Amino acid sequence: MRLLLVEDDAGLSDRLRLELEKTGFAVDVAADGVDAEFMGGSEPYDVAVLDLGLPGRPGLEVLRHWRAAGNPLPVLILTARDAWHEKVDGFKAGADDYLSKPFHTAELIARLQALLRRGVARPHGPLRVAGLELDEDAQTVRILATREAIDLTGTEFRLLRYFMLHPGRVLSKSRLAEHVYDFDTERDSNVLEVYINRLRRKLGRDLIATRRGQGYVFGDDAG
Ligand code: CA
Repeated sequence: MRLLLVEDDAGLSDRLRLELEKTGFAVDVAADGVDAEFMGGSEPYDVAVLDLGLPGRPGLEVLRHWRAAGNPLPVLILTARDAWHEKVDGFKAGADDYLSKPFHTAELIARLQALLRRGVARPHGPLRVAGLELDEDAQTVRILATREAIDLTGTEFRLLRYFMLHPGRVLSKSRLAEHVYDFDTERDSNVLEVYINRLRRKLGRDLIATRRGQGYVFGDDAG
Protein backbone atom coordinates (compact mmCIF):
# COMPACT_ATOMS: atom_id res chain seq x y z
CA MET A 1 0.00 0.00 0.00
CA ARG A 2 1.32 3.44 -0.87
CA LEU A 3 1.10 6.13 1.76
CA LEU A 4 1.62 9.88 1.46
CA LEU A 5 3.00 11.32 4.70
CA VAL A 6 2.56 15.09 4.92
CA GLU A 7 4.49 16.46 7.88
CA ASP A 8 6.87 19.43 8.16
CA ASP A 9 8.53 18.28 11.39
CA ALA A 10 11.51 16.42 9.91
CA GLY A 11 12.27 14.50 13.09
CA LEU A 12 8.70 13.22 13.35
CA SER A 13 8.39 12.39 9.66
CA ASP A 14 11.73 10.49 9.62
CA ARG A 15 10.64 8.42 12.60
CA LEU A 16 7.14 7.77 11.23
CA ARG A 17 8.46 6.89 7.79
CA LEU A 18 10.67 4.16 9.25
CA GLU A 19 7.87 2.75 11.40
CA LEU A 20 5.36 2.82 8.54
CA GLU A 21 7.80 1.16 6.15
CA LYS A 22 8.37 -1.59 8.70
CA THR A 23 4.62 -2.15 8.72
CA GLY A 24 4.66 -2.66 4.97
CA PHE A 25 3.73 0.74 3.56
CA ALA A 26 5.61 2.29 0.65
CA VAL A 27 5.98 5.85 1.97
CA ASP A 28 6.51 9.21 0.24
CA VAL A 29 7.01 12.32 2.37
CA ALA A 30 5.89 15.89 1.60
CA ALA A 31 7.05 18.66 3.94
CA ASP A 32 4.89 21.50 2.65
CA GLY A 33 1.30 21.95 1.57
CA VAL A 34 1.94 22.79 -2.07
CA ASP A 35 4.03 19.66 -2.72
CA ALA A 36 1.52 17.61 -0.74
CA GLU A 37 -1.42 18.79 -2.83
CA PHE A 38 0.42 18.07 -6.06
CA MET A 39 1.63 14.61 -4.99
CA GLY A 40 -1.77 13.55 -3.60
CA GLY A 41 -3.43 14.68 -6.82
CA SER A 42 -1.03 13.00 -9.21
CA GLU A 43 0.09 9.72 -7.62
CA PRO A 44 -2.28 6.81 -6.83
CA TYR A 45 -1.84 6.71 -3.04
CA ASP A 46 -3.95 4.33 -0.96
CA VAL A 47 -4.00 6.56 2.12
CA ALA A 48 -2.57 9.88 3.38
CA VAL A 49 -1.49 11.16 6.80
CA LEU A 50 -1.94 14.93 6.74
CA ASP A 51 -0.58 17.38 9.31
CA LEU A 52 -2.68 20.57 9.44
CA GLY A 53 -0.03 23.14 10.35
CA LEU A 54 2.14 23.24 7.21
CA PRO A 55 4.29 25.80 5.40
CA GLY A 56 3.19 26.77 1.89
CA ARG A 57 -0.48 25.82 2.23
CA PRO A 58 -2.44 24.79 5.33
CA GLY A 59 -3.40 21.11 5.53
CA LEU A 60 -7.12 21.90 5.59
CA GLU A 61 -6.85 23.78 2.31
CA VAL A 62 -4.92 20.88 0.76
CA LEU A 63 -7.70 18.50 1.83
CA ARG A 64 -10.45 20.81 0.54
CA HIS A 65 -8.73 21.09 -2.84
CA TRP A 66 -8.38 17.29 -3.12
CA ARG A 67 -12.05 16.80 -2.34
CA ALA A 68 -13.14 19.62 -4.67
CA ALA A 69 -11.22 17.83 -7.44
CA GLY A 70 -13.09 14.60 -6.65
CA ASN A 71 -10.06 12.87 -5.10
CA PRO A 72 -11.40 10.14 -2.75
CA LEU A 73 -7.99 9.42 -1.14
CA PRO A 74 -8.58 8.25 2.48
CA VAL A 75 -7.06 10.93 4.74
CA LEU A 76 -6.13 10.81 8.42
CA ILE A 77 -5.37 14.29 9.79
CA LEU A 78 -2.94 15.05 12.59
CA THR A 79 -4.31 17.74 14.90
CA ALA A 80 -2.98 19.69 17.86
CA ARG A 81 -3.84 18.26 21.25
CA ASP A 82 -7.24 19.35 22.58
CA ALA A 83 -8.00 21.46 19.50
CA TRP A 84 -11.52 20.10 19.06
CA HIS A 85 -12.38 22.72 16.43
CA GLU A 86 -9.56 21.36 14.21
CA LYS A 87 -11.20 17.95 14.28
CA VAL A 88 -14.61 19.41 13.34
CA ASP A 89 -13.07 21.53 10.55
CA GLY A 90 -11.12 18.48 9.38
CA PHE A 91 -14.19 16.27 9.07
CA LYS A 92 -16.09 19.08 7.33
CA ALA A 93 -13.22 19.37 4.83
CA GLY A 94 -13.46 15.64 4.07
CA ALA A 95 -11.11 13.89 6.52
CA ASP A 96 -11.81 10.22 7.27
CA ASP A 97 -10.14 10.07 10.68
CA TYR A 98 -7.93 12.12 12.97
CA LEU A 99 -5.26 11.64 15.60
CA SER A 100 -4.16 14.27 18.15
CA LYS A 101 -0.48 14.99 18.69
CA PRO A 102 1.37 13.57 20.51
CA PHE A 103 0.29 10.05 19.59
CA HIS A 104 1.61 6.51 19.73
CA THR A 105 2.74 5.15 16.35
CA ALA A 106 0.92 1.89 17.10
CA GLU A 107 -2.39 3.79 17.25
CA LEU A 108 -1.64 5.57 13.97
CA ILE A 109 -0.92 2.25 12.27
CA ALA A 110 -4.06 0.61 13.68
CA ARG A 111 -6.19 3.54 12.47
CA LEU A 112 -4.60 3.43 9.00
CA GLN A 113 -5.25 -0.30 8.73
CA ALA A 114 -8.88 0.28 9.75
CA LEU A 115 -9.22 3.02 7.11
CA LEU A 116 -7.80 0.76 4.41
CA ARG A 117 -10.17 -2.06 5.41
CA ARG A 118 -13.12 0.29 5.16
CA GLY A 119 -11.95 1.36 1.69
CA VAL A 120 -12.24 -2.14 0.30
CA ALA A 121 -15.27 -3.04 2.45
CA ARG A 122 -13.70 -5.97 4.16
CA PRO A 123 -14.64 -7.18 7.62
CA HIS A 124 -12.36 -6.83 10.60
CA GLY A 125 -9.95 -9.63 11.34
CA PRO A 126 -7.21 -11.13 9.22
CA LEU A 127 -7.44 -10.92 5.45
CA ARG A 128 -8.50 -14.36 4.11
CA VAL A 129 -8.60 -14.95 0.37
CA ALA A 130 -8.06 -18.00 -1.83
CA GLY A 131 -7.15 -20.34 1.02
CA LEU A 132 -4.58 -17.93 2.43
CA GLU A 133 -4.61 -15.88 5.63
CA LEU A 134 -2.40 -12.80 5.81
CA ASP A 135 -0.94 -11.76 9.16
CA GLU A 136 -0.35 -8.02 8.66
CA ASP A 137 1.49 -7.60 11.96
CA ALA A 138 3.95 -10.45 11.49
CA GLN A 139 4.01 -9.99 7.69
CA THR A 140 3.59 -13.72 7.16
CA VAL A 141 1.01 -15.71 5.25
CA ARG A 142 -0.61 -18.96 6.35
CA ILE A 143 -1.92 -21.67 4.05
CA LEU A 144 -5.28 -22.43 5.68
CA ALA A 145 -5.47 -26.07 4.53
CA THR A 146 -2.14 -27.04 6.12
CA ARG A 147 -1.82 -24.23 8.74
CA GLU A 148 1.71 -23.74 7.38
CA ALA A 149 3.08 -20.21 7.99
CA ILE A 150 5.32 -18.76 5.30
CA ASP A 151 7.70 -15.83 5.75
CA LEU A 152 7.60 -12.98 3.25
CA THR A 153 10.09 -10.24 2.40
CA GLY A 154 8.82 -6.64 2.56
CA THR A 155 8.16 -6.42 -1.18
CA GLU A 156 6.55 -9.89 -1.32
CA PHE A 157 4.26 -8.86 1.55
CA ARG A 158 3.18 -5.57 -0.08
CA LEU A 159 2.57 -7.32 -3.40
CA LEU A 160 0.59 -10.20 -1.86
CA ARG A 161 -1.51 -7.82 0.25
CA TYR A 162 -2.41 -5.81 -2.83
CA PHE A 163 -3.38 -9.02 -4.68
CA MET A 164 -5.44 -10.25 -1.70
CA LEU A 165 -7.31 -6.92 -1.53
CA HIS A 166 -8.18 -7.20 -5.25
CA PRO A 167 -8.91 -10.89 -5.96
CA GLY A 168 -10.27 -11.92 -9.34
CA ARG A 169 -9.37 -8.59 -10.93
CA VAL A 170 -6.92 -8.06 -13.77
CA LEU A 171 -4.09 -5.97 -12.34
CA SER A 172 -1.62 -4.45 -14.76
CA LYS A 173 2.10 -4.44 -14.05
CA SER A 174 2.13 -0.65 -13.86
CA ARG A 175 -0.76 -0.59 -11.39
CA LEU A 176 0.92 -3.19 -9.18
CA ALA A 177 4.20 -1.29 -9.30
CA GLU A 178 2.46 1.99 -8.44
CA HIS A 179 0.93 0.51 -5.30
CA VAL A 180 3.86 -1.60 -4.16
CA TYR A 181 6.82 0.77 -4.58
CA ASP A 182 7.44 4.28 -3.28
CA PHE A 183 8.32 7.19 -5.54
CA ASP A 184 12.09 6.69 -5.34
CA THR A 185 12.14 3.00 -6.19
CA GLU A 186 12.78 2.19 -9.81
CA ARG A 187 9.61 0.61 -11.15
CA ASP A 188 11.13 -1.97 -13.43
CA SER A 189 8.50 -4.41 -14.67
CA ASN A 190 11.08 -7.21 -14.91
CA VAL A 191 11.72 -6.84 -11.19
CA LEU A 192 7.98 -7.13 -10.55
CA GLU A 193 7.93 -10.41 -12.49
CA VAL A 194 10.71 -11.72 -10.26
CA TYR A 195 8.60 -11.03 -7.16
CA ILE A 196 5.50 -12.57 -8.70
CA ASN A 197 7.45 -15.73 -9.50
CA ARG A 198 8.75 -15.85 -5.93
CA LEU A 199 5.17 -15.67 -4.61
CA ARG A 200 4.18 -18.46 -6.99
CA ARG A 201 7.05 -20.64 -5.77
CA LYS A 202 6.07 -20.05 -2.14
CA LEU A 203 2.29 -20.29 -2.50
CA GLY A 204 1.54 -22.32 -5.59
CA ARG A 205 1.81 -21.79 -9.34
CA ASP A 206 -1.91 -21.46 -9.98
CA LEU A 207 -2.58 -18.68 -7.48
CA ILE A 208 -1.45 -15.88 -9.79
CA ALA A 209 -2.39 -16.23 -13.44
CA THR A 210 -0.72 -14.24 -16.22
CA ARG A 211 -3.02 -12.53 -18.72
CA ARG A 212 -0.78 -11.83 -21.65
CA GLY A 213 -0.66 -8.14 -22.50
CA GLN A 214 -2.97 -7.25 -19.62
CA GLY A 215 -1.35 -8.23 -16.33
CA TYR A 216 -2.12 -10.67 -13.56
CA VAL A 217 -5.16 -12.15 -11.81
CA PHE A 218 -5.01 -13.46 -8.27
CA GLY A 219 -7.31 -16.00 -6.64
CA ASP A 220 -8.95 -19.41 -6.79
CA ASP A 221 -10.30 -19.03 -10.27
CA ALA A 222 -7.36 -16.97 -11.50
CA GLY A 223 -6.56 -19.47 -14.24
CA1 CA B 1 3.26 21.04 11.46
